[in-house]
Order: sequence, then structure tokens, then C-alpha cells
Amino acid sequence: MQLLDGKVVSQAVKNELKEKTRLLTQAGKKAPHLAAILIGNDGASETYVASKIKNCEEIGFKSSLFRFDSNVEEAIVIAQIEALNNDDDVDGILVQLPLPKHISEEKIINIINPAKDVDGFHPSSVGKMVQGLPSFLPATPFGIMLMLQHYKIDTAGKHAVVIGRSNIVGRPMSILLSANTNPGNCTVTLCHSRTQNLKELCLQADIIVAALGKVSFLTADMVKQGAIVIDVGITRVADSSKKSGFAIKGDVDFEKLAPKTSFITPVPGGVGLMTIAGLLKNTYNACVQNNRY
Ligand code: NAD
Repeated sequence: MQLLDGKVVSQAVKNELKEKTRLLTQAGKKAPHLAAILIGNDGASETYVASKIKNCEEIGFKSSLFRFDSNVEEAIVIAQIEALNNDDDVDGILVQLPLPKHISEEKIINIINPAKDVDGFHPSSVGKMVQGLPSFLPATPFGIMLMLQHYKIDTAGKHAVVIGRSNIVGRPMSILLSANTNPGNCTVTLCHSRTQNLKELCLQADIIVAALGKVSFLTADMVKQGAIVIDVGITRVADSSKKSGFAIKGDVDFEKLAPKTSFITPVPGGVGLMTIAGLLKNTYNACVQNNRY
């Protein structure tokens, strides 16, 4: 069993972006600029946004944070996004999800200028991704692809089972793994809450991506010997032994399952870090494209 180490791979991505940014600014060009919008004060969302901003600073990107109360009017958020769309200094716009119920996620995502859609959720980005055209890829599946690439994992012809069909993880993951690319070229089975023979399907899988948000859902008896397992799940579980009062748990029963695998991602320290790496890469690319560098 080999650990797919998100710390190592995300650091490699960040080092590359830091050097490229240094070269840009040395040549008198502007550094990439990510603008983040955070609504309300959900603990997990606060942590994610703070981490994204800290990572921007680490590699020389500019970042701006726009915070709103949870009861903010939708029109105010839309006006903020439009201002960022029109601000030439801003390369990427990120709206941290989930949003309060009175704000339409669909409307908010649709209003973002596709040229600044560094989360890759705009229908224009998704359409391009599906057709294999250059586009911003959703950060989590993009990060997983970068990880597979880093460890030179041969995915061609493998059977990949993706558990979960959300627009931000499962569905785009299934599209990227099935694309005629490297990594990619898998035969993909996309499973969800209505899938009837999940265990059987998982036992046939060479690669399993667990993205359903249920702690330790994927157990050792569900994977074949030598499988590659990617754990996307992030759930906060109360733990009084931790200073924060909670522990972060994945969708995989890591301790029992890991010895059966050839490669596996840990939680924390796996996909979460790669999601940030994917976002930073998208922001750098947006800067280069939007400014015609
Ligand atoms: P979601 O709630 O939008 O979707 C969950 C999916 O799991 C659904 O498609 C549902 O059909 C499927 N599902 C639920 N129960 C199932 C079952 N018993 N069998 C098979 N499928 C089942 O979730 P999401 O936004 O895709 O997030 C999934 C998990 O990934 C969460 O824990 C989330 O916190 C985490 N996440 C992590 C990262 C990261 O960077 N590591 C990024 C995004 C989401």
C-alpha cells in the first residue's frame, strides 16, 4: 500500500505556481488575484475560505474576501459578483458553497463571468469539460486528476467506480476519468443513493472514488485486493480529545481497508489539499488568459 500524499503533491503544485508568479511579477505583470465571497458563518466554510486565502498569500497571489451576513439579500450578492466580473484586477471569483436557502445557487453560479469561473461550476465550463475542450475544471476532481498524474498511476482501461453524483465532485469526476486523456480512459460506473448492487460493483473496481459524505461507508469487504481508493469525504465528528472539539473523517474505513489497496488517500491530508491546489492552478490560468500573458 502506498499513500497518495496530498501534502506532497499540493506542495509541488504550489511551488510551481509560486515560481511562475514570481516570474510574472518580475516581468512587470500583475500577480493572479482571487476574490472569495463568504456568506454566513458556517464553521467548515470559514475554515475552507481561510485556507484558500492563506494559500494564495503563500504563493504570491493577491486575494480579497467579501463577507456577508447569512440573511443578506440575493440582489446584494449578485451586485457584488457583477462588480467583480467588471474589475480587471480580479482574475478568479469563488463563491463558497453551500449558500443560505433563500439564495439560489444556480442563479449565483450563472452570474459569474465564465472567464473568471475558477471553481469550474458555470454551465459554460461544465459544457466545455464534457466535450473535452480547454476549461476550468471543478477544483476537487481536478485536484484528484493532478494527484493521479503526480504518482504516474496508469488508469487507461481500468474500471473506476465513483460513489456520489454531485455537480461539484462525483459527476465531473466520472466525466474526467472517462475522458480520452491521461489520466483518464477508464470505464466508469457512477453510483448514487439509488444504486442497488453497490458492493458488487465496488468489488469489480480497480479505482474507487468515494464522494458521498458518510463516515467510513466504504469498508474492507467492498474492495478487491490491489484497488486504488480515493477518499473525498470530509465530515466533522465530535471528538473531545481534539482542541477544536471535532475530528475530520472520510468516507473510507481507512485502517481496515488500506492494507488491501495499492494506493489510497488519507483524510485529512489527501483530496482536501488537492482541491486547493486545483483552485490555485485555475486562478493562475485565468490570470494568464484574461490578461493575455
Ligand atoms: P452531496 O451531498 O451533494 O452528494 C452526495 C452523493 O452521494 C449524492 O449523489 C448521493 O446520491 C450519494 N449517496 C448518498 N448516499 C449514498 C449511498 N448510501 N450509496 C451510494 N451513494 C450515496 O455531496 P458532495 O458535495 O459531493 O460531497 C460529498 C462528500 O465530499 C462530503 O463529505 C463533502 O464534505 C466532501 N467534499 C470534500 C471535498 C474535498 O476537497 N475533499 C470537496 C467537496 C466535497
